[in-house]
Amino acid sequence: MELVNDKFSIQGVVLEDLAAEYGTPLYVYDAAKIKSQFDRLNSAFSTVDMKVKFACKSLTNLSILKLLKSYGSELDCVSIQEVRMGLKAGFSPEQILYTPNCVSFAEIQEAVKIGVMINLDNISILEQFGNEYHDSVPVCIRLNPHIMAGGNKKISTGHADSKFGISIYQMAHILKVVSTYNLNVVGLHMHTGSDILDAEVFLRAAEILFDAAKNFTNLDFIDFGSGFKVAYKEGDITTDIEEVGQKLSAAFNEFCEAYGRKLQMWFEPGKFLVSESGVFLTKTNVVKTTPATVFAGVDSGMNHLIRPMMYDAYHEIVNVSNTSGTKRVYTVVGYICETDTFGLDRKLSEVKEGDILAFKNAGAYSFSMASNYNSRLRPAEVLIYEGKAHLIRKREEFEDLLKNQVELDI
Ligand SMILES: *Cc1c(COP(=O)(O)O)cnc(C)c1O
Repeated sequence: MELVNDKFSIQGVVLEDLAAEYGTPLYVYDAAKIKSQFDRLNSAFSTVDMKVKFACKSLTNLSILKLLKSYGSELDCVSIQEVRMGLKAGFSPEQILYTPNCVSFAEIQEAVKIGVMINLDNISILEQFGNEYHDSVPVCIRLNPHIMAGGNKKISTGHADSKFGISIYQMAHILKVVSTYNLNVVGLHMHTGSDILDAEVFLRAAEILFDAAKNFTNLDFIDFGSGFKVAYKEGDITTDIEEVGQKLSAAFNEFCEAYGRKLQMWFEPGKFLVSESGVFLTKTNVVKTTPATVFAGVDSGMNHLIRPMMYDAYHEIVNVSNTSGTKRVYTVVGYICETDTFGLDRKLSEVKEGDILAFKNAGAYSFSMASNYNSRLRPAEVLIYEGKAHLIRKREEFEDLLKNQVELDI
């Protein structure tokens, strides 16, 4: 979003007008930002055969999936329902990677029937898979490379007691299972999980994967997962995609040469593609002064945007209704009966009751993690596409809360 003539807008569409037309709270996404992130990733890896698999758990709206498909993206799904959503959006089974963790074998069988690429992260499941399918269904193996970058700056789910992936130290066991059941391993995968800052971390993980890859003769691709960091506030350090692209591509091409075959390089970004495209609009219900704090209480809460409370995530907040007024310090909170603080001691242009406050970086893990807690309705979603606003999800209604309830005659 940008400030034009003192008004925040996306592709010329004024946010205040959207709040007036569609009501609040409201999620708004900028298709042009998604496109530019998608293009940036592609050009960073232009010297390799690279496929982007959008991690759709970050923003699972059908229209967003169709949008990304139209740009040339493929899909990463973590549940059978996401797989079905992907099919509904028009992705072919071949374009979908299914990466389950701790799901039932029955669900994996369902995914096999659909024909998507299966990514397994558990030796017990690998054995069940071998027992059932032998070499008739190609499979990808998710490894845990135990990448622990120095300090706690680069957090990782690749640590030793993470529930994800099969430990790289279990390679001998993996190979026994693969040869015993004659498994057709066509891909290796890792997803270290979090905000990775520098190219060196990717390269170290890549070296581990290349080393593992030598054990498999029939690979078609190596999937490096995601973890690209985007900016949440001004001055944030972000992943230098161009640097990662250049260094990783060079290492990958060298590996392919040694392997004797050109492989595909896959990525599964969620945040990188959609985080910055989203803005969440809320209305200030009350301004409340206490002895120490001035609270701005908005018509939303942890039920609609849980990242600040769950992950201590920082979402920049701006007053859309007053872009140039005197700055004052506010703590922005929700209306849920919990301590649902969106932002502590934020400098905002003076907030009056009724003002529209916007939360940035609301594209990823925002609507997709929304709930009905406190029996509140989930917001509407709007996509700004080719200069126009399109409603892509209706606001919930009271009936939606009752839909599946079975009322006893008491
Ligand atoms: C969540 C997830 C991603 C996306 O991570 P981001 O940080 O949003 O880019 C990619 N791959 C897998 C397997 C995931 O579970």
